[in-house]
Amino acid sequence: MFLLPDYRVRQRDYLLDISRALTAQLDLGEVLRLILQAATSMLSGEVGIIALREGDGFHVRAITGTQPDQANLFDPLLEDLRPDADDIDVAQLYSKMRKVAREVDLNLRQVVALPMVVADDMLGILFTFRSYAGAPTENDHRLLQSFADQAAIAVHNARMYEFANQERQRLAAILDYSADGVMILDAHLHIERWNRALSHITGWQPDQVTGRHHDIVIRWARRATGLNLSEAINNGWPRPVSTDTLPETLYIEGDLERLDGTTISVGITYAPLRKPDGALQNIIANVRDITRFREAEELKSTFISVVSHELKTPVALIKGYADTLNRPDANWNRETIIEGLTVIEEEADRLTELIENLLAASKLQAEGMRLTVDDANLPLIAQQAIDRFQTQTEKHTLRAEFPPDFPVICGDTTRLRQVIDNLLSNAIKYSPRGGEVIIRGTYGDAWVQVAISDQGIGLPPDELGRVFERFYRVDSALTSNTQGTGLGLYLAHAVITAHGGKIWANNNPDGGATFSFTLPRRD
Ligand code: ADP
Repeated sequence: MFLLPDYRVRQRDYLLDISRALTAQLDLGEVLRLILQAATSMLSGEVGIIALREGDGFHVRAITGTQPDQANLFDPLLEDLRPDADDIDVAQLYSKMRKVAREVDLNLRQVVALPMVVADDMLGILFTFRSYAGAPTENDHRLLQSFADQAAIAVHNARMYEFANQERQRLAAILDYSADGVMILDAHLHIERWNRALSHITGWQPDQVTGRHHDIVIRWARRATGLNLSEAINNGWPRPVSTDTLPETLYIEGDLERLDGTTISVGITYAPLRKPDGALQNIIANVRDITRFREAEELKSTFISVVSHELKTPVALIKGYADTLNRPDANWNRETIIEGLTVIEEEADRLTELIENLLAASKLQAEGMRLTVDDANLPLIAQQAIDRFQTQTEKHTLRAEFPPDFPVICGDTTRLRQVIDNLLSNAIKYSPRGGEVIIRGTYGDAWVQVAISDQGIGLPPDELGRVFERFYRVDSALTSNTQGTGLGLYLAHAVITAHGGKIWANNNPDGGATFSFTLPRRD
């Protein structure tokens, strides 16, 4: 029977232990200590150190045979060592060793130093010191090299692991802090990852969805595009890897049901992630909140329809009257001419108002409301508005009721005039059978209030708040026959809030609507 020499058996046992440790634990310090102890013991060494290359220099990372706090006393050995040094200068090493030996007060007389190399990359040096003189043998070198190689592999693995770990953390952070919702599904459509933005969009927290099937969580209240994910998969998405270059992503858009039962407009892009053999490994889904985009789209189409509808009528009237008055064969009397010109003038005024409202609304959106604040005399503004509007109607009686000591406030007179004009014109427009329209002023210590009430059609109770929205018009026979853009109250709301006040609407018990606003008094 072939027997290994004793030291070979020990070396084999040690190497076995080390490789077990290498696979079992990822604590680099522990593994290096184990390797160093084995190497030193195999060589009957006194002290062993492993120095690792970090940046431009070497630093002791494991030590055996002496106190760990003596590690820095070995630093002189590492000075001047260059990572690319092919061979370590033995004479210099010995002279440094003697110096260190004096410092650490140990009998170190022989040193073996071997580089730890993986793929031409020198990761560190393993040193073993003995207490007897004489040169180490070839065998010593070979023995130590096997341990140095193990140490190199351990360091290499640990660095790879650390790198992979850092990458994983970096990716997790990117995922978590992405402004878009991101979820990762396994090949069976179970949710593996769910980021913060997606919790925000859907109301579902990661621990509520992890492991659940995609279709339980992603439920469409309304879908604007294509099939849902499961249907698409049943229809062959994603196609097996092929040579064509068409993108394999799947896009689904619509209103998603949130956890609390509300809905949100989203667009989801699903992208398959494949294994090297082409099998589906994961599906990465990017979920984007497209509410604002959808709102903008809706607003754009409302804008176009409102503008085209509201422009058509006055333009047609102006054109009609101008054509008639202009007929070369007709000889109009003065009364007819005045009547025609009055209509043209009124319609042109309406057009101007419409254009001004549109411009004001778009300016408001772009730069917010800017006020030019000065003394504002609300009773005077109200009376002037009444005088102007009373000439336009006989069916209505317009009246202002302000206490004589109603305070002058701080405000933008031009804008407040627009608000009162608008509320007054609405009160007339939406009370087609006429009646009283009253502008009433009251005040307290800190505020003033103006209320404009009419005896008209009033408002559906659930739309009292909505009439202040941009382009919002109550859907009724009267409204559809009355000119308007749904911008007046939106602008009035903007002016009053810019002044720090509030505006609201309610219905009167005996019919008609009252629009009221408060404004802060100046100190
Ligand atoms: P417009 O009058 O141009 O349609 P507004 O923003 O001024 O736009 O008003 C929005 C909607 O509120 C109107 O279309 C109308 O349906 C409703 N409304 C406004 N004022 C009154 C009122 N005094 N009585 C009843 N409904 C009103």
